[in-house]
Amino acid sequence: MSEDGKIGMPKPVVLGEVNMENKFAALGISPRVLKAIEEMGFEEPSPIQERTIPAALQGRDVIGRAQTGTGKTAAFGIPIVEKLDRTLGTQALVITPTRELALQVSEEIARIGRFRGVKTLPVYGGQPYERQIRALRMGVPIVIGTPGRLLDHLGRGTLDLSHLKVLVLDEADEMLDMGFIDDIEKIMASAPPERQTMLFSATFPPEIDRLSRRYLQDPLRIAIAPEQVTVPQTEQAFYEVRGHDRIEALSRILDIESVERGIIFCRTKKEVDELSEALRARGYLASGIHGDLTQRDRERVLTRFRQADVELLVATDVAARGLDIENVSHVINYEIPQDSEAYVHRIGRTGRAGRSGVAITLIEPKEFRQLRDLERGIGMRIQRRELPSLEDLWDKRRERLKEEIRAVLRSGRRLVELREVVKELLEDEGEADSLDVAAAALHLHIAGAQAPEEDFGDTGAEPGMVRLFVNVGRAQNVMPADIVRAVANLSGIAGNVIGVIDIYDRFTFVEVPKAEASRVMQALQTGQIKGRNVNVEPARRRS
Ligand code: ADP
Ligand code: MG
Repeated sequence: MSEDGKIGMPKPVVLGEVNMENKFAALGISPRVLKAIEEMGFEEPSPIQERTIPAALQGRDVIGRAQTGTGKTAAFGIPIVEKLDRTLGTQALVITPTRELALQVSEEIARIGRFRGVKTLPVYGGQPYERQIRALRMGVPIVIGTPGRLLDHLGRGTLDLSHLKVLVLDEADEMLDMGFIDDIEKIMASAPPERQTMLFSATFPPEIDRLSRRYLQDPLRIAIAPEQVTVPQTEQAFYEVRGHDRIEALSRILDIESVERGIIFCRTKKEVDELSEALRARGYLASGIHGDLTQRDRERVLTRFRQADVELLVATDVAARGLDIENVSHVINYEIPQDSEAYVHRIGRTGRAGRSGVAITLIEPKEFRQLRDLERGIGMRIQRRELPSLEDLWDKRRERLKEEIRAVLRSGRRLVELREVVKELLEDEGEADSLDVAAAALHLHIAGAQAPEEDFGDTGAEPGMVRLFVNVGRAQNVMPADIVRAVANLSGIAGNVIGVIDIYDRFTFVEVPKAEASRVMQALQTGQIKGRNVNVEPARRRS
C-alpha cells in the first residue's frame, strides 16, 4: 500500500519458486500469497486452515473451534488478504482480546500479505491515539484491535467501517471472559450487514452461540478435535508429590528433566507470584505473568522469555492463552488443570508446528481421580515418572560436571599454566597423588558455586541457628503461621526446621538454620508477608 492508503500496483514478484504441489494451492490461494506462505515455512495447511480457507474465500461466514496453536490466524488471515481490492478504506477488522494478540495477528497478516503490498494496523489501549488516528485516516486496509480501543475510535469517528468486507472475532471466548461482550456487539452492529463474519474460539460457552445466531449468517461450523492437532506431538508425564514439599519436588523435576524453556501453570495470580519468587530464590531464572501486570510489564517479561533471559515463565491460564511463544521445551502443570480442555490448551504450548515437547503434571494422591478423568478426556495415558531422589540429582550433576571438564580439556584454556600448579602441589604434598589433587579442585569448584557460609555474628539464636529480624509484627496482624508459611514457601526450606518465632508489635524474630539463613533472607527480601514487602536482617543479640 502506498502512503495515501491506496493499494498501488504491487511490485513485480518472481513466482518461479512457488511449488504448485503445495497443498495450500489446492485451497484456491493466489500465487503471491502462496509465495508468502512458503517463505513463512508453512509446508501444508493445518486442519482448521484446510477447512476454513476455501469456505471463507467463497464468502461464507465461519465459526471455527480449535485449540491454541492450530494456526487460526492464517485460517482467517489468508482469506482476508485475498479479498482486499484497491478501494480505499478499512476492509477487514479483526477483534482480539489483548494487545499482544493484536500485535501478533497484525504481524502474521502483514507477512501473509507481503507480496500483495498489504498493510495492517494494530490498535490497542495504552498507545497514543495520534499515531493510530494518522494511520486510520490513510485508510489502512486491515485493522486489528482490542474491543475498548476500537470502540473509542468508532466513537470519535476515526475508524470508518462503511467499507468493511470481513469482520473476525479472534479468541471469542476469551473476550467474553474479559467482559467485552457489550463492546463487541456495538462494534458488530456498526459494520455493514452484508459483510462476512468469522468467529474463532477454543471453547463454546452459550453466549457465543447467542452471539453467532445474532450476527452471523448461515455460518459453516468447523470444529477441530484437540487430539487431532496438539496432543500426539507432546510427551506427557505426571509426578506424584505430597502437598508440603511441592516447591522442592518441582525444583528436582526441573533439574532432572533439564527444563530449559518452560511454562509453569498455576491456578491463581497469587500462586504465580509466590512460585516465581520461590523459584528465583532457588536460583532459577523465573518470571511470573498474570492479568494484574501492566501491559508494559507483561511485554517486558515476554520479551525476556523470548530472548532466553528468563527460562521459566510462571503463568495463569488466562495470561498465557493465545500468546505465540515458540520453542517451549516443557509445560508444567504445577496444579492439575480443571478439565481436559484446559489441559490440552496448556500442553498445546509445546510441540507447536512440528516440534515436540514435554508436558508434566504434578499431582497429589487425592487427585488421581482427576488424572484419570483427564486421560479419558484426551483419550490417552499419561505416563508416571518417579520423583528423582537426591542421588539421582547428584548423578545428573556429576554428568554435567564431567561435561564441563571435558569442554575445558578440549578448549585447552590455561591448562599449560595450571598444570604447573598441580605439579607444585604433587611435589609439596608428598602424600597426595594427581587424583587427590583433581578431586580437591573439583570440590572447590562445586563449593564455589554455592554461597559461602556467612558469619552472621551473635544473633542470640540457638547454636546452629540464626535469629532474623523482620520488620512486620502484630500491628500488621502477623501470626506465627504467616511467618512459617512465608519462610517455607518463599525459601523452600521445610517448615519444621524453623526455630523460635517471637512476634512483637512492629517486628518479629524468627530463627532459621544457619546453613539456610542467606537463602531465607534473600527469599523474604524479594517476597512478601501479608501482602507487604519486608526488610530482613540478622538480629543483634539483646544485651
Ligand atoms: P492459534 O491462533 O490457533 O493459536 P496461530 O495462528 O497463532 O495459532 O499459529 C501458531 C503458530 O503456528 C504460529 O507460529 C504460526 O506461524 C504457525 N503456523 C500456522 N499455520 C501453520 C502451518 N500451516 N504450518 C506451520 N506452521 C504454522
Ligand atoms: Mg490465535
